[in-house]
Amino acid sequence: MQLNAVATASEWELAAAELAWRSGVFVDGKLQPSRSDEGFSVVSPRDGAALAEVAVGSALDVDAAVSSARAAFDDGRWSRRAATERGRALVRFGDAVESRARELALRISLEMGKPAQDALAVELRAIAQTLRWYGQLADKLGDEAHVGTPGALALVTREPAGVVGAVVPWNFPLTMTGWKLGPALAAGNSVVLKPAEQTSMSALVLGELALEAGIPAGVLNIVPGRGDIVGEAIGRHPGVDVVAFTGSVGVGRRFLAYAAESNGKRVWPELGGKSASVVLPDADLDKAGRTTAWGSFYNQGQMCSASSRMVVLGEAHDAAVAAAIAQADDMRPADPLSGDAALGAVVSEAQLAKILGFVERAVADGAAIAAGTGERFDIGTGRGSYLAPIVLTGVRPDMEIAQQEVFGPVLSVIAVDSVDEAVAVANGTPFGLGAGVWGRDLSAVHQLARRLRAGTVWVNCWEEGDMSMPFGGVGASGFGRDKGARAVDKYVDVKSTWIELDS
Ligand code: NAP
Ligand code: MG
Repeated sequence: MQLNAVATASEWELAAAELAWRSGVFVDGKLQPSRSDEGFSVVSPRDGAALAEVAVGSALDVDAAVSSARAAFDDGRWSRRAATERGRALVRFGDAVESRARELALRISLEMGKPAQDALAVELRAIAQTLRWYGQLADKLGDEAHVGTPGALALVTREPAGVVGAVVPWNFPLTMTGWKLGPALAAGNSVVLKPAEQTSMSALVLGELALEAGIPAGVLNIVPGRGDIVGEAIGRHPGVDVVAFTGSVGVGRRFLAYAAESNGKRVWPELGGKSASVVLPDADLDKAGRTTAWGSFYNQGQMCSASSRMVVLGEAHDAAVAAAIAQADDMRPADPLSGDAALGAVVSEAQLAKILGFVERAVADGAAIAAGTGERFDIGTGRGSYLAPIVLTGVRPDMEIAQQEVFGPVLSVIAVDSVDEAVAVANGTPFGLGAGVWGRDLSAVHQLARRLRAGTVWVNCWEEGDMSMPFGGVGASGFGRDKGARAVDKYVDVKSTWIELDS
């Protein structure tokens, strides 16, 4: 089967049937058996079928990966290579990923349930673009020379920090991985990557693609496995200098504790959210309601930056809600391999049950279901973990559903009477990842955008942005920032060299 040409449902299915799954750990440039006997079976949420038995990594594998990364770092095979050459290799890495884009999209889709076409158009495009963007940036990161003191020269240079541990989630598995690998590798570091259990087999493919691109063995190591084993071993490892983490608040804080209790390594946490989309009365209400709903449902709602709360002012309420309901109706779940599915499967049965629990309690708290049913959805096969999008109206800001991250396709609508109340509600959770403002009065929009406590504010859109725009949060959403040129600074040490000049 020519994966490059796959597009229709039957072609995706045929390709899926032919796909071979490999597991193990990728250490020192080789896919090798894990040093543990433990394994687990990866179940596809698409139909509940087991995809493969996966051997998972252990703390011993983390030791081996860190040793390999350290040796690569110390001998300079990457860390001391000319930045231009590192950059070229990263660009080739992006191209290599792109050359296997359909295969990788299919793997992700089967592993975590998002539509294959979506994985191709969004995930694969994102990682390829990210690797190339940082590759092109690699030799443009100039350092500083200060000549302010007569008789001396001060150099302020960026040195790669050493070994970077990257621990990522399953919801945008390759996008998140690209956001860590791009800047860390561009700066000359070696990396030990731990993908989420659900998406470990797609992540392993990256190891061989990095080698193919000319990134030397040992520079990128991949150790799949359980968070509380492999993740914790990375977090506590004395040989790891920096941890870049994306995931939940609880685990992010554990990494801060691991660091404090081990070698004081730097930790960059990028965590969850409960982002509010504020709709002002003069907004394009149809677009505001539809886009906010889309931002809440896309990727089965499993988005850290989901617009999970629509905060609507006064008379804007009914039209914005009607638009959100229409959007929910347009996003029925379907087989992720069907070629044109708007939504696929929720990542697991456990996640589906968790989402439905949130909805049940919200209804008990007084919210009304305006779209969806609050029950699992059958795509016609009687199998798989599917949920049609849900719009909840009459949500009060203090309800559990308005405070906690659901990580499912559920939009909570909160009605407010004034801009001040909208600000208080929008800022009234511990999170601060994203926020949105919808309106036409430029001054009112700007004033409101400034008052929202969030790492990103989207105006008259949601989820837009290019590689130059940093992404991350404030408050409980963590303080790591991915994307943009500044992300490189997370992975470098600033070195000052003071040189006395003979007069
Ligand atoms: P998670 O449970 O925090 O897991 C994230 C990663 O940490 C996984 O690789 C996981 O491994 C590992 N892990 C779990 N327990 C661990 C432990 N005790 N010690 C060390 N590592 C551990 O998050 P998730 O369920 O995969 O993803 C959903 C969360 O990610 C949401 O809260 C979402 O908002 C957040 N997220 C944030 C962003 C952002 O950019 N801010 C982007 C995407 C997602 P295993 O699961 O394999 O055991
Ligand atoms: Mg997990």
